[in-house]
This record gives sequence, C-alpha cells and structure tokens, in this order.
Amino acid sequence: MIGGGPAGATSAALLARRGHRVVLAEKDAHPRFHIGESLLPMNLPIFERLGVAREVARIGVKKRGADFTGEADGARYTTMHFRRALGDSPGFAYEVRRSELDALLFANAATAGATTLENTEVLDIAREGDGSFGVMLRDATGNELRHQTRFVVDASGRDTLLAGRRGWKRRNRAHASAALFGHFRGVARRPDSNQGNISIYWFEHGWIWMIPLPDGVMSVGAVCRPAYLKTRKGAPPLAFLRQTLARVPDAMARCGAFEPVEPVRVTGNYSYRAARMAGPGFVLVGDAYAFIDPVFSSGVYLAMHGAEQAIPQVEAWLAGDRNAHRRAVRDFQRSVRRGLSAFGWFIYRFNSPGMRRLFRRPRNRLRVEQAVISLLSGDVFRDNGVHRRLRLFHALYRVASMTTPGKSLKSWMQRKETVNHEFR
Ligand SMILES: Cc1cc2nc3c(=O)[nH]c(=O)nc-3n(C[C@H](O)[C@H](O)[C@H](O)COP(=O)(O)OP(=O)(O)OC[C@H]3O[C@@H](n4cnc5c(N)ncnc54)[C@H](O)[C@@H]3O)c2cc1C
Repeated sequence: MIGGGPAGATSAALLARRGHRVVLAEKDAHPRFHIGESLLPMNLPIFERLGVAREVARIGVKKRGADFTGEADGARYTTMHFRRALGDSPGFAYEVRRSELDALLFANAATAGATTLENTEVLDIAREGDGSFGVMLRDATGNELRHQTRFVVDASGRDTLLAGRRGWKRRNRAHASAALFGHFRGVARRPDSNQGNISIYWFEHGWIWMIPLPDGVMSVGAVCRPAYLKTRKGAPPLAFLRQTLARVPDAMARCGAFEPVEPVRVTGNYSYRAARMAGPGFVLVGDAYAFIDPVFSSGVYLAMHGAEQAIPQVEAWLAGDRNAHRRAVRDFQRSVRRGLSAFGWFIYRFNSPGMRRLFRRPRNRLRVEQAVISLLSGDVFRDNGVHRRLRLFHALYRVASMTTPGKSLKSWMQRKETVNHEFR
C-alpha cells in the first residue's frame, strides 16, 4: 500500500481487518500538514465503518452546510444546509485539521492489524516473473529495502507514483490553476449554528474558501486561474492572498484583521486523471488516480469511498478468481467515474453566470435544489433519484445561461477546452 493519507489508510484498515497481511508505507511522518480540510456528510458512514466516528467528532468542527457569495453580493449569501438533502444522508459533516485526521486514520490502520511504516518512501515497483511485485522502499535511515507483494494499492495522492512512472497521467492543461492558502486567527465566522459552515466566494478569476477549524482558526484559500496569477509578479503569497480577498467585500470584511498562524502556502492545482485505474494486481485510489478542482470539498470523500470500493477486486485477485476480479474492476471503474463526472459537471461550470445565478437564487421545483444539496453532501453513488434531478438541474442551467447570452458565451469559451479534456 503506497501512501498513508485517507485513501491508503482506509484500504489498509479494511483489508487488515479482513485478515490480509498489509504493509502501508508513508513517506512522511504523522502528524503532517495536508490541505483538504472540509469533509462531506457522506464521509460519516465511512468513519462509522472504520470505527473512528467518535474520534473524528472530537477533532472536528460541525459543518452543517455551505454558503455561497459573489463579488457584487455585499454581505448577502445563500446557505445550503445538508439537512435538506434528499434521502437519508447525514445532516452535517466536519471541518478538520488534516494533520489530525490523517494521523488518526493511519493509527486506525495499525490497530486493525496493518504494518504501518512512516518516513518510508516507495521508490519504484516492478512486476516479477510470477506476477507478484517487487517494491523498492527507502526507510528513515536512508536504507533501501525490497518488499514482495501480490497486490499494490497506489494511494500516493498527487505524487501519482504509478500513473507518473508508467506515463498514464493525463493532465488537463486547460485547467491549470494554483491555490494559495493558510491558517489565520481573527476571521469572523458565520453566526450561531452556521459557524462551522464552509464559505465559498466567486470572483472573476477563481474562487475563495473559508473553512472554520478548531481553536478559533480559519483556513482561508484562493484557487486562481493562471492569467490572474501572473499579476502576482513576485508579491509574497500573504500579500497576494490579501489582494485577492479585497476583490470580494464580504470576504474582506471577515478577514480585515486576520493574523496568519503559519506561512501562506502555494500549490499547483492541476486537474488530471490516469489513463488506467486498475489492472492485474494493482489499483489506483484517491488522488493517485484523479484530481478535480476542490470547490465542492469532494477530495477526501472520493478518496475514501474509492479506497473502500477497491476491496472486492483486491480480494478476488488474492483468491485467484480472475473472473470475479474482472467483474470487480468493472464495477469499481463505473463507480469512480460516476462520482467524478457528477462533481465534474458542476465544477467546470462553477464560475459561469448561469451557475452563479442558480446557486444564488435556488428554487426547489421538483426537488432539484435538494438534489444539488445531495451532491454537495457526496450522495452521488446511490440510485435514490438524485441523478435524475441533477439532469433536470442541467436543463435549468442551460435555460439560465440563455438569459445572459453574451456572458455565458464568454464563460463557455473559457471552459470549452477544459471540459473537452475532462471526465465525460
Ligand atoms: C488547494 C486544495 C484544497 C483542497 N480542499 C479540499 C477540501 O476542502 N476537502 C476535501 O475533501 N478535499 C480537498 N482537497 C483534495 C484533498 O486534499 C485530496 O483529494 C485528498 O487528500 C486525497 O486523499 P489521498 O489519500 O488520495 O491522497 P493524500 O491525502 O495526498 O495522501 C497521499 C499520501 O501518500 C504519501 N506518499 C506520496 N508518495 C509516496 C511514496 N512514493 N511513498 C510513500 N508515501 C507516499 C503522501 O506523503 C501522502 O501522505 C483539496 C486539494 C487542494 C489542492
């Protein structure tokens, strides 16, 4: 198992608990910083199955929904509450420090019986004559070791070990963007029971997030398009983040006197997916397979869901049942693609005038708004009427776009190349 983030730790815990011998190698040592702090309600049942629900509740801030604001909206925002979702998805989620969440998931894998190695980097993997894999590792002391395994789960995140080495990674160059983010004190929260909600702000060149973390800290970040980033011209990340916040009055008003708790970080945020997701004796889960823009906080949930869905194919392979393995791979691929395309459709239109309008003035005719809330909750893998209603939303979006044809055409042209490259 390569990588001790949410995907790797989930697969490791579940497989170990089912009696398999699992080695989980993580190149860093927990706790370590990671971005991706806002979780979705549908994460909760997975935490239950892993047996960590109470611990996650202890480290998390309750997130009851998401609010959306634009540059021209002043202090007006729309809140979508998870309790209004269709069906029985949980009515809340958590915002967490990933250092804490990932450390507890990693420890849980060890408790389940996996051998967990920190400061241990997987350098390479080679298939042996008998179909097993030789895995080259470098441990904390710099020693290189070789480990033999019958199945490899690549959960190496955006390092994309297998996809990178095998030339499978397909980058969406049209969606090149970067994120600047940090942890701050002194940022105002939303009032009352909404104080744990994520806030999302549209602005012309991307979007901004505010994620309330424990101890009065707020994670604040901006995901920006390349043309806008060029205007940074060597400005320090903190100054550029401030400049970006100043474009949205409500964001600026909340952050006016903010104090960084640590240096602002910058990361590339390229969307990609791998040409292969699974095959004989291997599977790619989480960001090791695909990364999509994080505007709907889907990353951790998709990673953990995929890690769980990968278990049948691992077991079929280890049992030597090739037909069952092929079937399990087919089901897995269908499920992963379904999740990515449900989110992808919204993500690539997120900054368009039609989408802004529908999010800013939601209408619940035929329970379409509730279906969107189900999507925001991560409830995209079940056949509970969500997808049917999301297709209606797609139609409403087309109509809404026709009412502002000039602006919609401009935004469509910006988006066209992106969508052509992505999850269709
Ligand atoms: C700017 C930004 C904001 C985001 N915001 C959110 C959000 O609010 N909510 C959300 O759900 N998601 C968010 N995401 C996405 C989220 O970070 C990821 O989708 C999620 O972490 C994927 O989990 P994973 O286990 O697949 O990978 P990771 O969490 O990246 O874990 C991979 C692990 O593998 C280890 N590793 C890598 N290579 C090797 C190797 N060769 N050997 C051993 N170990 C290795 C790494 O050290 C790491 O610990 C965001 C992403 C970005 C870039």
